[in-house]
Amino acid sequence: MKPNIIPLTISMPFGDSENIVHPVLLWDNESLILVDCGFRGSLPLIEKELEKHELKVTQITGLVLTHHDHDHMGAARALKNINPDLLVYASEKEAPYISGQEKPLRLRQAEELQEKLPPEKQAFGKAFCELLRSIEPVPVDIVLSDNEMLRWCGGCQVLLTPGHTPGHLSLYMTEANAVITGDAFALENNRPVIANPQFTLDMEQASKSMEKLLALDADTHYCYHGGVYSSVEGSR
Ligand SMILES: [Zn+2]
Repeated sequence: MKPNIIPLTISMPFGDSENIVHPVLLWDNESLILVDCGFRGSLPLIEKELEKHELKVTQITGLVLTHHDHDHMGAARALKNINPDLLVYASEKEAPYISGQEKPLRLRQAEELQEKLPPEKQAFGKAFCELLRSIEPVPVDIVLSDNEMLRWCGGCQVLLTPGHTPGHLSLYMTEANAVITGDAFALENNRPVIANPQFTLDMEQASKSMEKLLALDADTHYCYHGGVYSSVEGSR
């Protein structure tokens, strides 16, 4: 079979709106890799998305977590429970936050912000902290390093793209000339932008990481927030 890169769409209610994210499936003869897995409670939505391709979550061989944010790793524990053979991949710097060895940086940031919030925003801040505390950690089985090559879909290069978080990673699919950005950049009005600047832990690093990905001149970018960006034919 021809290797496939398949963006998924996971939509979760968030207040009055929907929060939409795009995990990506890497599917070839040997592996079925999921890159990021959405929110806590996303498992049934992932199952539905896989069904469209006649796939099951028990067939997933690996889960790559670009970083430890709740909207990227929220369903990781549930996936691992239903599919204990699945291997979890992440960078060395993100692993302690994903596996629960260290308190997530995002939670620390949210707790610090919480103290400074005006009274009318206190409830939201508190709910956000509680949401972050509710994310179940999952052990990281395989630590990925910068420029490491994996066999998935004809060639997959790990690229460390810190900034949003210190150990954020993106994937460059060499055969498809495509980038899976994670939160190294997002897509807004068909343009690459820094994802969630208010949550970006190091803006200078984040800008450099975004430039590093754009410099690859990939044909296609799979953005977790915003969807598919094609520099060849415009976005779709
Ligand atoms: Zn995100």
